Amino acid sequence: MLDKRNFYINGKWVKPSRSNDFEVINPSNEEPFAIISLGSKEDTDSAVKAAKEAFVKWKESSKEERINLLEKLLKIYKKKFNELAEAQSMEMGAPIDYAKSAQTASGQSHLEDFIIRLKNFKFEEHFDSKSNNHISYEPIGVCGLITPWNWPINQIALKIFPALATGCTMILKPPEIAPISPMLLAEMIDEAGFPKGVFNLVNGDGTGVGTQISGHQDIAMISFTGSTRAGKLITKNAADTTKRVCLELGGKGGNIVFADSYPNAVRDGIRNVMSNSGQSCDAPTRMLVEKSIYERAVKEATDEANKIKVDTASKEGDHIGPVVSKIQYDKIIDLIKIGIDEGATLATGGPDLPNNLNKGYFIKPTIFADVTNNMQIAKKEIFGPVLCIIPFETEEEAIAITNDTEYGLGNYIQTEDKEKAKRVAKKLRSGLVYINGNALDPGTPYGGYKQSGNGREGGTWGLEEYLEVKTITGWK
Ligand code: NAD
Repeated sequence: MLDKRNFYINGKWVKPSRSNDFEVINPSNEEPFAIISLGSKEDTDSAVKAAKEAFVKWKESSKEERINLLEKLLKIYKKKFNELAEAQSMEMGAPIDYAKSAQTASGQSHLEDFIIRLKNFKFEEHFDSKSNNHISYEPIGVCGLITPWNWPINQIALKIFPALATGCTMILKPPEIAPISPMLLAEMIDEAGFPKGVFNLVNGDGTGVGTQISGHQDIAMISFTGSTRAGKLITKNAADTTKRVCLELGGKGGNIVFADSYPNAVRDGIRNVMSNSGQSCDAPTRMLVEKSIYERAVKEATDEANKIKVDTASKEGDHIGPVVSKIQYDKIIDLIKIGIDEGATLATGGPDLPNNLNKGYFIKPTIFADVTNNMQIAKKEIFGPVLCIIPFETEEEAIAITNDTEYGLGNYIQTEDKEKAKRVAKKLRSGLVYINGNALDPGTPYGGYKQSGNGREGGTWGLEEYLEVKTITGWK
């Protein structure tokens, strides 16, 4: 059993102020493999105090100093790449190859990109040539960073790297069910030699450390990724201190498959939704299919889902792993049963364990056909390997169904008609629109409309989230 009870505060690994052990479970076998502590108010306060003191000097640090430290961190990250992947695979169930090629690689790519953006970022600029006004971009202060378990390192990377790059100090509260890879990253930050107090990590749950952070008077900004439920609670609790609150929340992405889509569009959509066992906020979980190709699409979707293997996360090869926890497992199975009761057609999958497995939080890739957008399975973020297929007849109807959700994170369009794709993309109410499976480039902004949040992470937009903007007159 790994003993990971200590917190990283003021440049040291320290014991919690009082013991409150919490077991970290491996979702592939339901067995605990590490013990952490859930922090208390004293731990949160001491981390915030360290961050507040460190901010006095760190906000004055030069861009070169921060670039140097981030470049050192990148070297360490590359050295410990496999260790980081193994930790994520164990704590949240990503198959080891996926944990390397997607989960851990994404953190590295964010770090590389933020170094480039920082090099090019102008912290001082003139308003315009006729004006004597000057604009300064300054670090906002102590940041409270709260992250989820589904992409543990990716979500942290999108917060701590820009916070470090802009001269902010911080307290990170990783997810209590996937805290091991974040603690490894904390060790790397320590090894890179960032000044004490700049980065602090306290483990805890939402009602404890999470709530202490969102309400803390010495924290200037919260960056949160996770459920819309928690995002609302955080926003309310942060209101009394009027701190900036940046939110990256859930999604219920539509994937519009037009009759003139490229040949593999349906199969690619299935692979996309099932990867990471469906636990991605921008997963294309509602597949909208044009009526003329509907039957073929359901057949292809079913066939592709049946090809996807489900297996233990530590096994190499192409498969999906378990979902993260018993709580998530129960929630997903309940929603699958609700889908059946609501009258959707269960094309494949369902609530039983996959045949080869009798332990672990494994769920069969599940496809519902003949879904209507008012069914609960089409409305709720299931966050598991479950897809709903909904027929449509016209472009307008496809747009209306896609937008008829409280969420607005990632939507998808499949058509060979470039003009139609662009026209539809402009009408979709979401922060991301993916046409024909094209990926996001490093440094593009990532975030949602509506109840999917209000922040934009990544690239220059990601740096700006951590900055205050000051206008100074009479500069010339
Ligand atoms: P969650 O929102 O409860 O947890 C995410 C993080 O927020 C964790 O670190 C948690 O400890 C913390 N937290 C929880 N409540 C808090 C509060 N009141 N104040 C401060 N911090 C708080 O998510 P979950 O329970 O782990 O998962 C539930 C659902 O959230 C999932 O089914 C999914 O719908 C959604 N989710 C979305 C994302 C995403 O990337 N958009 C990620 C994870 C979960």
